[in-house]
Amino acid sequence: MNSDRYYSTKARKMESSKIREISKIIAERDIISLAGGMPSPDSFPIQVVSELSEQLLEEEGAAALQYGTTTGYKKLREAIADRLNQNFDTSVDAENILVTSGAQQALYLVGKVFVERDDEVVVEAPTYASILQILQELEADVRDVRLEDDGFSVEELERYLENEGDPKLSYFVPTFQNPSGITTDLKKRRKLVDLANEHDFLIVEDDPYHQLRYSGGNVPPIYSIDGHRRTIYVGTLSKLLAPGIRVGWIVARREFIDKLQLAKQPIDLCTNVFSQHLAYRYLKEDIVDRQIEKIKDLYRAKRDHMLDALREFVPERVGWTSPEGGMFIWLTLPEGIDAEEMFQDALDDGVAYVPGSIFYGNSPKKNTLRLNFTFVEENEITEGVKRLGKLIERRMD
Ligand code: PMP
Repeated sequence: MNSDRYYSTKARKMESSKIREISKIIAERDIISLAGGMPSPDSFPIQVVSELSEQLLEEEGAAALQYGTTTGYKKLREAIADRLNQNFDTSVDAENILVTSGAQQALYLVGKVFVERDDEVVVEAPTYASILQILQELEADVRDVRLEDDGFSVEELERYLENEGDPKLSYFVPTFQNPSGITTDLKKRRKLVDLANEHDFLIVEDDPYHQLRYSGGNVPPIYSIDGHRRTIYVGTLSKLLAPGIRVGWIVARREFIDKLQLAKQPIDLCTNVFSQHLAYRYLKEDIVDRQIEKIKDLYRAKRDHMLDALREFVPERVGWTSPEGGMFIWLTLPEGIDAEEMFQDALDDGVAYVPGSIFYGNSPKKNTLRLNFTFVEENEITEGVKRLGKLIERRMD
């Protein structure tokens, strides 16, 4: 049967995420994977989830198993708003919040509501690979802005805007970015808000890692600087509870939330109601804060372990970021070493990473790669980095 004949034009153009492809290869072989983007299974509060689930079924019974509203469980939206206001000195309420099936759905909905074919969308270079997958499906005109050690290049963004750049939307992961681990400093956040006001475009702030800070001082989210006028903020419990729960949220102006929930209706009617009730209890009883402290201790040690291993085993001519939080470290190899091309050898040597090129909308920097330090055990971090260091050394000869 020629199945192609039945597919829509859109389906024909769909491509699998490179990271998912890599994960498939790795799962089939005995390889230390520094590639994935997964939290440590040790960070999941299994006992807490078990107790909360039992309580929930006893106290709420059928309500936790029924359909819910598309905007999300009201008490959860209130709890999310309360936490944001407490943490970031803002004044959002439940009406500014749409609960989603993870941050990923939030991004998909934003794309669906705001982006049309050929619309210019500004992203960091490198940026989160799955936003590129969404923008590609929407046939957006992706505009890269180079990332520096303290955030996007202001000069490059200004040059683009002054040369008839006309973005409607921009997408940033300003805190402990995936993939680079870089945090945009306060000055640049303010500058971005000024530029967005001046040139009238929206800012999507994707912020899954904000509370996973292991060192350094807090930097306020863009939405709090902007007073959530033109910033659409995306949050998630994936890294603070567990990704399998699939609870995320969008914070935005009420009229945006109205539109976004219309876009969500035909997709899933509502986010998993059981998960939402569970998430509410997890947030309400401040269990989350105790859990965040535990996760931070776990990941801080892993980050330090990876940085130590990099210093010990990786040639000096390689550069890397030293993130103050999050889950990733970004490596820049000497010019001429192509991390994509080196990937097969890395697998043969028993270590995996994500080649940096997949994180670029345009003009990929091929001598870059991403390492994850949260998923694997410390001894595997050391061994994995050692194998990678040897391989890079051989390539440099
Ligand atoms: N945005 C970024 C920047 C991420 O790193 C991730 C997780 N890899 C997501 C969104 C998706 O998160 P969720 O599990 O909440 O869908």
